[in-house]
Amino acid sequence: MFDDPSVADEEVAYRRVPRAPNHRTFDLTAKRCRPSTACFSRSRHEVSVHLRGLMPPSRLPPATYPNTPQDGIAAFRAEVPRRKGGGIVIVDDPDEADPVLRSAHAEVRPGEDSKRRWAEIRELIISESWWAKPVGAPCASTQCTLCASLSQGPGV
Ligand SMILES: [Zn+2]
Repeated sequence: MFDDPSVADEEVAYRRVPRAPNHRTFDLTAKRCRPSTACFSRSRHEVSVHLRGLMPPSRLPPATYPNTPQDGIAAFRAEVPRRKGGGIVIVDDPDEADPVLRSAHAEVRPGEDSKRRWAEIRELIISESWWAKPVGAPCASTQCTLCASLSQGPGV
């Protein structure tokens, strides 16, 4: 199964964005950084997310990933991967120690196992995503209006 109809189109998926610079890219039009393809790349054609509707209010952004407070959170609606033939499935994450994240875990999956299809899904997610929480360290661009207010500490 690659799509779960019990996940509404309006449901919001959160994807953790590590502070490492290669997980963000500068968007010249928007004059701010956005998540890069590295943020949605995996060897297998799927990406782990956490669903807003399955989380208690106390764990909504910015408190979703309390163990990595510097990480950012990209958000997108469940209908976005569906527009490119993909879907979202709620699945258990046995490797997750945090009970909230474990029960809110889902995967974005392509409808067909094709590199090209997956690239299309990934690109659309990136262009349709917004920052539920910006990364706590500036990106590589000095022109970024989102990160301009962050102190220029040492990068990772
Ligand atoms: Zn930035």
